[in-house]
Amino acid sequence: MTDFSRRVYLLRERDLSPETIAVAFAKTSRSPEPFDRNAADLSDARSAEFHEKWVVGYGHASVAEHAVLHIAVENVSRLAIECLESNRLVSYTEKSTRYQKWSSGAFLAPPEVAGGELEKPYGETCRQLLDTYARALETVGGLARARFPRREGESDSRWEGRIRSCYVDVCRYLLPASVLANVGITINARALEHALRKMLSHPLAEVRVIGAEIKQTALAEVPTLVKYAEENGYLRDLPEKFRRASAPLGIPPAPREDPPRGWMRLIDYEPGAEDRALAAAGVRFCGWGLEESARRVRDASSEERRLLADALLEGLGDHDQPLRELEHITYTFEAVMDQGAYFEVKRHRMMSQTPGPLGCDQGYVTPRWFEEAGFLDEYNNVMGRAADEYRALRMALGPNAAAYVVPNGYLRRMVLSMNLREAFHFCKLRSSEGAHAAVRVLALQAAGQIRLVHPLLGSILQWDGQPDWKELESSFFR
Ligand SMILES: Cc1cc2nc3c(=O)[nH]c(=O)nc-3n(C[C@H](O)[C@H](O)[C@H](O)COP(=O)(O)OP(=O)(O)OC[C@H]3O[C@@H](n4cnc5c(N)ncnc54)[C@H](O)[C@@H]3O)c2cc1C
Repeated sequence: MTDFSRRVYLLRERDLSPETIAVAFAKTSRSPEPFDRNAADLSDARSAEFHEKWVVGYGHASVAEHAVLHIAVENVSRLAIECLESNRLVSYTEKSTRYQKWSSGAFLAPPEVAGGELEKPYGETCRQLLDTYARALETVGGLARARFPRREGESDSRWEGRIRSCYVDVCRYLLPASVLANVGITINARALEHALRKMLSHPLAEVRVIGAEIKQTALAEVPTLVKYAEENGYLRDLPEKFRRASAPLGIPPAPREDPPRGWMRLIDYEPGAEDRALAAAGVRFCGWGLEESARRVRDASSEERRLLADALLEGLGDHDQPLRELEHITYTFEAVMDQGAYFEVKRHRMMSQTPGPLGCDQGYVTPRWFEEAGFLDEYNNVMGRAADEYRALRMALGPNAAAYVVPNGYLRRMVLSMNLREAFHFCKLRSSEGAHAAVRVLALQAAGQIRLVHPLLGSILQWDGQPDWKELESSFFR
C-alpha cells in the first residue's frame, strides 16, 4: 500500500557515495518509490551507469548538482585562488589577510620562473615584500598599541582583536599575489566540472596543475561526473583571439596606463527601471498582467508610487532580504580598487564581475598609518621595486605570470553589474563598521549613486549611522 505520510530526512553522505545520492534523487522523476528505497536499490557501479547515460549522454546535467564535495586546497597562491573562486554556485572560505599574518617564505615560485634565471630576482622581490610586511606589522602594530592602549583587565587576545584591524588591514597592502593560502571549497559535481574546465584551460601553469590535482582527488568520490572535464580550446584561446580582434579598434595589446578614476562610478542604469520592479510586484500581489500593471504604475501619481515603494520596503528586519522584484533593476559600475579590496569584492557571487588584469600600471594606495608610523619611505621603496620586477616579468613572460609579484596595494579595474537586491546586500554588509575601509568606501559610493538615480526604491540603501565616504577615505588613505 502506498504510504502518504510526510517524511523529511537526510540521505547521509556517510552511508552513500555522492554519485549514488544524486541518482537516488534523480530517480524520483520517473519512480514513485521513496528516496531511501531508490538508494537501497543502487550500487556505485549502477549509479555510474546511470550518470553515463543520463548526465553525460543525454545532458540531464542538473542531476550532478546533488553530488556535493568538500575540497580542501592548501598552499596555493592567492593569484591561483582568483580562478578557483571564480564560480558563482560554489561556497568558499579562505585564509584571511585581515585575521592572519604571513611568514617570510610563504610564497610560491611559479613554474614559469622556477629553475630559470628569473627565479632569483622574483624570489628576492617577494622576500623583500614579505620582510617589509613583517617590519610593518611591528612598526604600525606598535603605533596602534600606543594609540589604543590595553584597557583595564583586557586580555592579550581581546586587546589584539580590538586593534588588529588598525594595523593588519594596513600591512596587507604589502602582500604579493604569490603568497600562499588555503581555501575550503564546497561544490557540486556540475559546478566542479565547469570549474575544472576553466582551471585546465587557464594561462597560469599553477592553476592548470591545481586543476589536474583537484580532478584526480574528486574522481575518488565522483568517478563519472567529472571524468570528462578537460582543457577547453575555446576558453584557452579566447583571450588572444579577442585581443587580435580588438587591434583595429586602436586598443594597444599591452595594458593601457590610464590613471585610475574614482573608486566606483555608476556607468549604466535604466532611469525607468523602478517602474518595472513595482509593476512586477503588481503581478505578484494583485494578479495583474505585466503590461496592465506597468500601465497602472506609469499612470500613478508620485504619492501613489511612493506608497507602493513603501509597501515593498518597509518593515524589513535586520536579517531580512528584500523581495526578488528588486532584481528587475540593474546597475553597471566601473570600479577601481586595490587588490586587497578586489579579493573581498570578488566573493560577492550574485554580481556579474569582470576584473581587469592585475598589474602595477594604475598606481597604488597609501594608507595614512604608514605615514604616521614613519614607514612611508620603506613602503614606497618596496612598492616601486615590485613594479620594476612586475615590468621585467611582463616583458619576459607576459602579464599573467608577472602578476604573481604585484602587492595588494596596487589598483585594479573592475566592471560590476548588480541588481538592487544584491546592491542592498553588498552595500549593507560592506559599509558596516567592521568592514575594511577600502571596501566600505566602495559600498558607500555605490549606495549613494544608486540613491541618486533611483530615489524611490534606492532609499533602501540608506540606513542609520552611514558615514560619509569622502571622510572615511581621507581618514584611512593619504
Ligand atoms: C565579517 C566578515 C568576515 C569574513 N571573513 C572571511 C574569511 O575569513 N574568509 C573568507 O573566505 N571569507 C570571509 N568573509 C567573506 C564572506 O564569507 C562572504 O564570502 C562574502 O562576504 C560574500 O558574502 P555573501 O556570500 O553573503 O554574498 P554573495 O555571494 O553576494 O551572495 C548574496 C546573497 O545570496 C545568497 N547566497 C549566495 N550564494 C549562496 C549559497 N551558495 N548558498 C546560500 N545562499 C547563498 C545569500 O543570501 C547571500 O547573502 C567575511 C565576511 C565578513 C562580512
